[in-house]
Amino acid sequence: MRTTKDAVVIGGGLAGLAAATYLGRAGRSVALVEKAHAPGGRAATQESHGFSLNLGAHALYRGSAAEEVLRELGVRFTGAPPPASGALAFDRGAFHTMPSGALSLLTTGLLGVAAKIELARVLGGLAALSPAPLASVPVSTWLRDTFRTPEVRRLVGMLVRLTTYCADADRQSAGAALAQVQLAFSKGVLYLDGGWQTLVDGLRGAAAAAGVEIVTGVRATQVAVEGGAVSFVELANGDRIDAGAVLVAASPRAAASLVPGSPALAAHAERAVPVRAACLDLALSRLPRPEVRVVLGVDRPLYLSLHSASARLAPEGGAVLHAAQYAPELAGRDAERELDELLERAQPGYRGAIVERRFLPSLVVSNAVVTAEGGGYAARPGVRVPEIDGLFLAGDWVGPTGMLADASLGSARDAARALLARSARRALDRAA
Ligand SMILES: Cc1cc2nc3c(=O)[nH]c(=O)nc-3n(C[C@H](O)[C@H](O)[C@H](O)COP(=O)(O)OP(=O)(O)OC[C@H]3O[C@@H](n4cnc5c(N)ncnc54)[C@H](O)[C@@H]3O)c2cc1C
Repeated sequence: MRTTKDAVVIGGGLAGLAAATYLGRAGRSVALVEKAHAPGGRAATQESHGFSLNLGAHALYRGSAAEEVLRELGVRFTGAPPPASGALAFDRGAFHTMPSGALSLLTTGLLGVAAKIELARVLGGLAALSPAPLASVPVSTWLRDTFRTPEVRRLVGMLVRLTTYCADADRQSAGAALAQVQLAFSKGVLYLDGGWQTLVDGLRGAAAAAGVEIVTGVRATQVAVEGGAVSFVELANGDRIDAGAVLVAASPRAAASLVPGSPALAAHAERAVPVRAACLDLALSRLPRPEVRVVLGVDRPLYLSLHSASARLAPEGGAVLHAAQYAPELAGRDAERELDELLERAQPGYRGAIVERRFLPSLVVSNAVVTAEGGGYAARPGVRVPEIDGLFLAGDWVGPTGMLADASLGSARDAARALLARSARRALDRAA
């Protein structure tokens, strides 16, 4: 079958859905092609026995580009910040009170006196530090050169992992990491009622209302380029969609394989080092220790949070817990066993309450670490592929805006704007 559209969007995650909606609202005819049976990508939520399980722990950064785009597109969501009480630090095999305010800082056994004094100063001053001069500095160097006590270095390293999901301190840009920590500290985050599927459903509804044709269950196999410009998209079922503009909202590797004639895309695919996490997602019929809500590993790259303490994710009496080991390829210990041991310590007997258990050993949280070597966000590709007219990109590895979903949704908006600006220019040229 052969059809014609103004634009084709490849990839139906948050980025593709948002970009297609912007284009549809601007009056363009748009087809969105998603290879999975439903849109959503990494923002999809699994529903099981009345529990909502995100694909690993997800928190929406407030005051971020993501929130801005979602509001702009009329996507409704509700949620609440993570539990403020009941947070523990897990260090060298023992639990300690997490130092989060004056009293807990005084009383916690996690830190010695010198580290307590330094941490009090550091927490007060982090917001005022400027990320820009640190763009080309690795997180590990920044921690070593900025903080005096090893305990504070480890704690700030933990904050970096928590907010960026990245434990590769030798590679990650300290500037990008600091900006992300500051974003988290300034407005906080939300756990979403019903999970991130509410965002997917909201965006899908907005796309459909904007006239976007959503094609699921079929992979785009090629973006054909003729005379230096895109001309059509070929699908795995043999269909072809003619279009003068294509927006790829998928991974760097997918983009490079869709457009094999682009050295720039091949180079980005080659360079991108994904941020990975091993995730243990749990639905429990009851919680053995309801007072334990958050556990953050200090000497180990571990995370555990009771998302259902804040958001509506579980039926009455039940609980949704997300646990993660950051960078399983670097962590040096079997992730599933380490997470299971942590859970057994934090929630003794939890195994007897399991309704649903999902272990995902190596999820791609972000397609590309923001590297110090690349000078931070400067190394990311722009939304326009300069060597191919009509080809645009969106995703968590594209553009200058933030990390994670912020990068996905921020670049989606930028890419849609760039595509619309190009078609406006071409219309003017034709009229002249
Ligand atoms: C464990 C985990 C925790 C996270 N936590 C957070 C968090 O706390 N805060 C936050 O902001 N973000 C978080 N994220 C990141 C967030 O989920 C992503 O940034 C966002 O969902 C990515 O959206 P996307 O559209 O850019 O990419 P994706 O969701 O990856 O979508 C790309 C889509 O393209 C499709 N596709 C690929 N190739 C083709 C093809 N050839 N043809 C058709 N379709 C194709 C794929 O099937 C996929 O659906 C987390 C992610 C993970 C995995």
